[in-house]
Amino acid sequence: MTTPTHPSELPSPEQIVLRAGLDIPSFIAPKPTALFAERALRLRQLAAGHAMREYLLLMAVVCEALHERAQAHPALPPPDAESVAQALASAQPPLAPQRLAREPSWRTEWRAAMAQVLQHLPADSPARATVQAVIALPDAALEQQAERLLAGITLGLDMAAAPLIAAGLQLYWTQRLAATAAAQPDAFKSFAPPASPAQHCPCCGSLPTASITRAGQGFKGQRYLHCALCNAQWRTELIHCCHCGSAKGIQYQALQAVGDAGTPDTRAAVEAETCEACRHYLKIVHMERDAHVEPIADDLASLTLDLLVSDAGYQRHGTNLLLLFGDSEPAQPEPA
Ligand SMILES: [Zn+2]
Ligand SMILES: [Zn+2]
Repeated sequence: MTTPTHPSELPSPEQIVLRAGLDIPSFIAPKPTALFAERALRLRQLAAGHAMREYLLLMAVVCEALHERAQAHPALPPPDAESVAQALASAQPPLAPQRLAREPSWRTEWRAAMAQVLQHLPADSPARATVQAVIALPDAALEQQAERLLAGITLGLDMAAAPLIAAGLQLYWTQRLAATAAAQPDAFKSFAPPASPAQHCPCCGSLPTASITRAGQGFKGQRYLHCALCNAQWRTELIHCCHCGSAKGIQYQALQAVGDAGTPDTRAAVEAETCEACRHYLKIVHMERDAHVEPIADDLASLTLDLLVSDAGYQRHGTNLLLLFGDSEPAQPEPA
């Protein structure tokens, strides 16, 4: 682990003031026709020489299948404009699983994606049996697993099947959110980021997987939290704890980036942001250090960093549905 650092590319207070007048979006809607392909690419890139190579490649195949499904617009009922606007205005997530009934079509889409996964897995892949078993789950059992996943309940959850089922829920929620945001751009445009700390996604109420500092025109130095379920990104302060909101005692831990000669390479694109006030952490990925970072893929491929930080006594804030562990904390807010 490197010495905790303070990112030096952070904007000065003057830059922050200057930027305050710019139109920086507080919310970025997901693009389902592109994001699963980008995630798959990143997973393949990270899998090379990785200790979790087989698992990362399996998740890449899953994301490629989601990408195929995401190319068609699903026939879903249009969002109820009034209830979405009301929820946003009262800082309630309009697409929370408790509010938004799942259409049965999510299961059809998901089974089609899993059938494609089977086609692309090698004949001797140990994952085949899990995929086959999960496709064959009766609807009621599948819905029961989905309910537990969405409620953050690991008791009774089939941990091997969970990432596969979660992938289908991610596809469904990402498409629902993209369609809702496209149908009601004004409602989403005007909605302000929730008060700090914004622990949960303002669209669906899930925990974030990680945060990302974005690069590019108008985004330099801006940080967004990335939703584990609907892939929304919402803006948050650059340096503060995503769990308790403290801006003091924030440190950055990274695995040492090792160059060819075993020497430290560039600064790590993935760090754990730890908080001394509440002893929680969340990972942060930096686009300026690696343009290809993808919050969910990079979080998955940096499990060693979780182990180091949790050994040091920090508890994770946030979840990655593509790799779940038994957790004592609920992954969802209590239903309103
Ligand atoms: Zn969300
Ligand atoms: Zn904290």
